[in-house]
Amino acid sequence: MSSEPEPRILISRKEIATAVERLAAEITRDYLGKYPLLVGILKGAFMFLADLIRHLDFPLEIDFVRLSSYGGTKSSGKVSQVQGLLTLVKGRDVLLIEDIVDTGLTTGFILDYLRKQMPGSLKLCALADKPARRRRPVVIDYLGFTVPNKFLVGYGLDLDEKYRNLPDICSLED
Ligand code: 5GP
Repeated sequence: MSSEPEPRILISRKEIATAVERLAAEITRDYLGKYPLLVGILKGAFMFLADLIRHLDFPLEIDFVRLSSYGGTKSSGKVSQVQGLLTLVKGRDVLLIEDIVDTGLTTGFILDYLRKQMPGSLKLCALADKPARRRRPVVIDYLGFTVPNKFLVGYGLDLDEKYRNLPDICSLED
C-alpha cells in the first residue's frame, strides 16, 4: 500500500470553468476599455490566470510576481520580498490574481508592494478564499469559491511541487 495521500475532488473542472466564466464577465463589466494590468502570483495562479484571460476579450497586459522569503533579520528570522514585476505600475489599473487567500499575509504583502507604486486602481481576484485561517483582513473584489479549512491541490496548487497539473481542485485525504 502507498503512503501517498489520495487526492479527492472538492471542486470539479466543470465548476471551475463556470466560476472562471462568471469572474471574467464581472471583470469585463468593470475593465472594458481600460487596458488593465493583470498580475498573477506565481506559481499557484498560473493556470487560473491563463484560463481567465481567454475569456477577457479586450486589450490587457499580464505580468507575474512571486514572494520569496529568506532568513534575514534576527527579530523575525524571515524577510519577504516581491520579485519579478517588470511592468511599470504607476497609474495603471492593476488587478492582482491569486490562487488562494488563506492567512491573507501573502496577498496583503503584495497588495502593499503594489500600492506603494501608485497604481491608478488596485483590485484583487482570487480563485478561492479560505477564511478560517485569516490573520490579516483582505478585500477580495472578485472571488471564485469559499473553501473549507483543508489543504488543497490541483489546478495550479501544489504539495511540494506535485499535483499542480490536476485539472480539478482536490483535497488530500490519507
Ligand atoms: P496566505 O496564507 O499568505 O494567505 O497564502 C499563502 C499562499 O499559500 C497562497 O498564495 C497559496 O499559494 C498557498 N496556499 C494557501 N492555502 C493553500 C492550500 O490549501 N493548498 C496549497 N497548495 N497552497 C495553499
